[in-house]
Amino acid sequence: MASDTSLPDWPPAELLGDLRNRSVTRDARDFALSTGLVYRAVPQRQGDIPPQDTTIHAPITLLPSPFPRQLFEKAENLQPLYNKLYAQLSLDEKFIKSIMEDTVVHVDEFQARLYAIWQTVLKEGVSQSTQSGIFRSDYMMHSPQQDGIQLKQVEFNVISSSFGPLCTKTSAMHHYLLRKGAYDALHPSLIKENMPENHALETYAAGLADAHNHYVEECRDAHAQRSVKPVVLFVVQETERNSFDQRAIEMLLIEKYAIPVIRLTFEELGKTASLHGRARILMIQSPATHAPVEVSTVYFRTGYSPEDYTESAWDTRLTLERSHAIKCPSIALQLVGSKKAQQVLAEPGVLEKYLGNDADQVRHSFMQLWPMDPNTKLGKQAHRLVREHPENYVLKPQREGGGHNIYKKDILPALDAMEKRDKQREAQGGNHVKECEAYILMSLIEQPEHRGSLFVRANKNSDNAELVKDSVNELGIYGAVLYSPESILKNRSGGYLLRTKSKDSDEGGVAVGFSVIDTPLLV
Ligand code: ADP
Ligand code: MG
Repeated sequence: MASDTSLPDWPPAELLGDLRNRSVTRDARDFALSTGLVYRAVPQRQGDIPPQDTTIHAPITLLPSPFPRQLFEKAENLQPLYNKLYAQLSLDEKFIKSIMEDTVVHVDEFQARLYAIWQTVLKEGVSQSTQSGIFRSDYMMHSPQQDGIQLKQVEFNVISSSFGPLCTKTSAMHHYLLRKGAYDALHPSLIKENMPENHALETYAAGLADAHNHYVEECRDAHAQRSVKPVVLFVVQETERNSFDQRAIEMLLIEKYAIPVIRLTFEELGKTASLHGRARILMIQSPATHAPVEVSTVYFRTGYSPEDYTESAWDTRLTLERSHAIKCPSIALQLVGSKKAQQVLAEPGVLEKYLGNDADQVRHSFMQLWPMDPNTKLGKQAHRLVREHPENYVLKPQREGGGHNIYKKDILPALDAMEKRDKQREAQGGNHVKECEAYILMSLIEQPEHRGSLFVRANKNSDNAELVKDSVNELGIYGAVLYSPESILKNRSGGYLLRTKSKDSDEGGVAVGFSVIDTPLLV
């Protein structure tokens, strides 16, 4: 479904005047700082633990960005299907084996280690068959001929999907500025009805509460004999600057659901996590009282990237995976969230197997994707296409968190360097799988042009929001699912993230400084 809505010129010129810009920026900043729309301040040296007593406001836009209503609603409607799809994929052992063993584990040490844990636990027998997912499906507007705009998926996130809580606050900030009159007489579409409420924070908390309550219900008889209530464990990074995005979930879990949360790093867990009994109940030590506490649900806000692991962190990940706690996500889910799985799903007939008649709707949201294995027909086609027109593609490795993709003119030199290394390895009698097989190739999404935005960023030495003339938006929709091999127990969706970045920047990460948190103005 293409939208024929043309997008208004943005941002409205009246907001660019020095005095108005400065006054609205001041209101936006103070709202952000007052309501916890913040990050920890940047540490003095990269990699250090950030100061624990200082914050700066998150990077935000001064006003919402126009986004076609039809496409926004389409993304919302797709989410329950995507939730179901990824739940099913994670339960399909054959699918996981085929995507991993054909190529990925031979060329990607990180995925290979995750896969080894999955195999170990499978062999031993899983103690907890119920799994939890908190997802974010990311999309961009695609307007190839300028005459219609389509919704196209960038990627599907299954682990540590972030920014829902901070975007919920950004939404509240844009609504506050609207009510305050900051957007008066700027553009007729700037009204409350076009600014959707954001329920992302609620989706996270409800998803984790579903998992926790299921665990408690399942172990009710055992708990009747214990006095301490189980907790939800957040596994976090010591150097995290985006802690308040996570704390908002913790606070809602306590306030609304009376579910306590303990935050620990892999390193801390390595010292105190242990498994008990035949069921392998996960116990940790409360950092406050040092008393032993049972864990109902393990929620990962780390563990998605090789830098998150030391050798002992890998041991801890295995302990957590073997345990009876419900994992959000399990290793199986993390593996099917790989870029490789996204590419395999785009191959003919694969989606149909899981979604039947709904497959078409989901397929329409895909860009073209190819494997890079030069021994397959699709892989050969990929190499030919990218050699002819590298400017139309992005090459993606099996990584999360931004900063790893190779774009356009950088692709061919990167492929040439990989081939060179392959030859050296072969000459030394090494592994014969080609390095490029660790990547997938994707057609570039072509964003509508000439649309600007006003960025409000801390530490920029300016009282005014900064005009970014050519900006692009990425919409994320949140979902939360709880499922067992027998059935989907809960399938929730709701809430969004809009990220906006300068067109010049290929990458999209807010945390890595490329993009800012925005909200959609439905037109
Ligand atoms: P990561 O797991 O690192 O977040 P993504 O697949 O989300 O990887 O890519 C990172 C960013 O690169 C996205 O946020 C988006 O801005 C840009 N990007 C990714 N794929 C495409 C594409 N096909 N067309 C245009 N931009 C893309
Ligand atoms: Mg991404």
